[in-house]
Amino acid sequence: MSETYDVVVVGAGPAGYVAAIRAAQLGLKTACVESGSYEGGLGGTCLNWGCIPAKALLESAALAHNLQHHGARMGVKPVQVEYDFPAAVKRSRIITRKLTAGVKYLLGKNKVDIVEGRGRLAGAGRVAVDAEGDDRELATRNVILATGSVMKTFPGFELDGEKVIGSREALGLQELPRRMAIVGAGFVGVEFADVFNAFGVEVTLIEALDTLVPFEDPEIGKALERSFRKRGIRNLTNTRVKELDRESSPMVLTVVNPDGSETAEETDIVLMAVGRRPVTEHLGLDDNGVELEDGFIRIDKWCRTSAEGVYAIGDVAGQPMLAHVGSHEGIIAAEHIAGVARHPVNYGNIPSVGYCHPEVASIGMSQAQAEEAGYEVVTGKYPLGAHGRALTAEAADGFVKIVADAQYGEVLGVHMIGHNVSELVAEVGMARELETTLDEIVAHAHAHPSMAEAVMEAAFAALGRSIHM
Ligand code: FAD
Repeated sequence: MSETYDVVVVGAGPAGYVAAIRAAQLGLKTACVESGSYEGGLGGTCLNWGCIPAKALLESAALAHNLQHHGARMGVKPVQVEYDFPAAVKRSRIITRKLTAGVKYLLGKNKVDIVEGRGRLAGAGRVAVDAEGDDRELATRNVILATGSVMKTFPGFELDGEKVIGSREALGLQELPRRMAIVGAGFVGVEFADVFNAFGVEVTLIEALDTLVPFEDPEIGKALERSFRKRGIRNLTNTRVKELDRESSPMVLTVVNPDGSETAEETDIVLMAVGRRPVTEHLGLDDNGVELEDGFIRIDKWCRTSAEGVYAIGDVAGQPMLAHVGSHEGIIAAEHIAGVARHPVNYGNIPSVGYCHPEVASIGMSQAQAEEAGYEVVTGKYPLGAHGRALTAEAADGFVKIVADAQYGEVLGVHMIGHNVSELVAEVGMARELETTLDEIVAHAHAHPSMAEAVMEAAFAALGRSIHM
């Protein structure tokens, strides 16, 4: 052991590397340990095998879909669209490499020591790094655990990398199957359904709960289902997968239908998208007094664990498992260590986005949640069917629904599906940080024509003063 660090961050995903940079900015001597294991490397799952490559493929998918289905109508007639999925994958890997190199540059620029190897707690003030022959121990005043998460699966559906794959394999497929069954219709499942449908694969999406994106407002799930159906994606909701015969060719997937009957579905590949579990193993948590809750590391509002001087952030520290939550927690943990933290994470105001087409985005409470919380609720819904900007983009599917407090007009939540709604959610998030009311939203002249006008129109609708409806 040489000199003592102020902070050692274990894991360099969007939670860990952001924490390390912020800590270093605040004058703390900082190291960031990264094992490159699981789905990681500098930039973590997000940059390597998650958010970024998935969004790159979704952009390729949108181009393929638009050329084929809207091109002629929009005055661009493709001679013949040919799919080249390996080229799309190659592009996604180039973007990933550029961004992960950027993380390395930023850590270096901020004088964070990058330590390669697998980190674990090794007693008070110590982190052991196992690095195959180059094991070492780091002395530190504080540790931030940011080890992220890995894909979940269940018995009978273990990944084999060929017939049953996870998101990582899906992001690197070199040959497309004719048929694909996707198990799980959360954001990851619907994004892959979008990608592979656009590249000509026959996609069946299987979801055990009532709707697609089941943790969103039910109206959103239903609207996405309609839109996907129009594109030829088969949606089996309220349907459970029971067993898979991998030996038959094609494979046979037995599903349990909503009425309890069973159907045998033929498929060439199964993509599991049933969620992720936190990486808590081999970290020495038990021996060092770090407690878990529901499998995640338990943290308080400043991201402190039950062990003195040990913080946890990102996917390993609980829901919502999203990159921006991890980064935000990283900043708060670093600032708390430096003694300059001002406010904890506002978990009630976290945007959720699914980047399928149409996009899905929400923030704050659903109508049902707001009513349950005792609010007298008013809602305003603005459909995109006659919205100028949506029509010009040949994307008139969807709506914006705003949920507000009837008495004061405070915006309690927004739920949207449609073109570029991933960008609209930022306006509402900021509005809610500032406790903005419906009146204040409509007081701002939103640029015309823009998708952002749809938020203003939904606010007008909630006020009973619709202009364009
Ligand atoms: P990770 O990104 O998982 O990083 C953890 C890092 O720690 C890894 O690099 C790992 O190698 C390293 N590590 C683990 N154990 C050790 C150890 N003992 N020692 C050293 N290093 C270790 N989220 C969004 O917000 N938006 C999206 O659009 C989005 N799309 C996604 C698409 C897909 C296909 C997937 C799979 C996920 C997506 N996510 C998205 C989720 C997002 O990737 C995660 O929420 C985010 O990466 C979590 O960040 P993290 O830093 O907590 O963990």
